[in-house]
Amino acid sequence: MPNIRVSALFRPLSLKEKSEHGDSVSIRAIDTESFIFKVENSFVAFVQDEKEEEIKFHFDRVFFQGSQQADIYEFLALPIVKGVVNGVNGAIITYGQTGAGKTYSMEGPGITECNEEQKGLLPRVVDGLFNAIKLSDDMTRYTIKLSMVEIYLERVRDLFDLSKDNLQIKESKVHGIFVSGVTELSQKMKAEDVQLLEQLFILEGIFFDPNSVEEVESAYDDVTSRTISTLQKAVEELSKTVDEVCTVL
Ligand code: ADP
Ligand code: MG
Repeated sequence: MPNIRVSALFRPLSLKEKSEHGDSVSIRAIDTESFIFKVENSFVAFVQDEKEEEIKFHFDRVFFQGSQQADIYEFLALPIVKGVVNGVNGAIITYGQTGAGKTYSMEGPGITECNEEQKGLLPRVVDGLFNAIKLSDDMTRYTIKLSMVEIYLERVRDLFDLSKDNLQIKESKVHGIFVSGVTELSQKMKAEDVQLLEQLFILEGIFFDPNSVEEVESAYDDVTSRTISTLQKAVEELSKTVDEVCTVL
């Protein structure tokens, strides 16, 4: 299996796009790995002549309109989950202009919503990780650590400790690339002890409601805001629970 997979995804047209431009799109599928993009010369400066230009693109997989989130997970994320359980680092990166569907692909319509069909990569990765751990040899113990950072105005800030607002990304021979000083919530866990981390991921839902960017931004501007103190309280309570679990184990 190649180490990197690159896919293109086309989200369904929005109602606004349909009402303004109709159903037609500039993409024609060839197969599951390629498509033709019809460039309208009036839009693109590099097309010289008057004719419509057709450009063919290839990817490891193309997810056309109407693709299932489960298929995207299986193709893109499941190999990473399997790798992680075997000690291989992995990353999923979404790239595209605002409105392209990055958040939807990662989270689904909302991270705390449990619609099985629509849920995005992040909750599926959590499920996949725990399933893989459950299925693993009983003698193996895993430590799962969770950090949450955001790159905002080119500074890396720690979302579990907002006083750390300029973390440095460093590289060492022992740790590879790491975020120096970042808060890590962790638990040494047996294969069955899976619920706490799922709760931790739900916290992201509290803080990153994708439909309320302004709310989150204004919360950032005011560190005493209710959103953040609620988050911090929840994290503190959770940390205590994690400690208790660790002591019991
Ligand atoms: P981005 O994070 O790239 O700015 P979003 O994920 O917020 O974009 O998507 C923009 C809009 O398109 C949202 O209203 C979202 O619900 C919708 N959308 C994105 N991808 C899909 C999809 N695969 N199926 C249905 N709706 C989608
Ligand atoms: Mg987004």
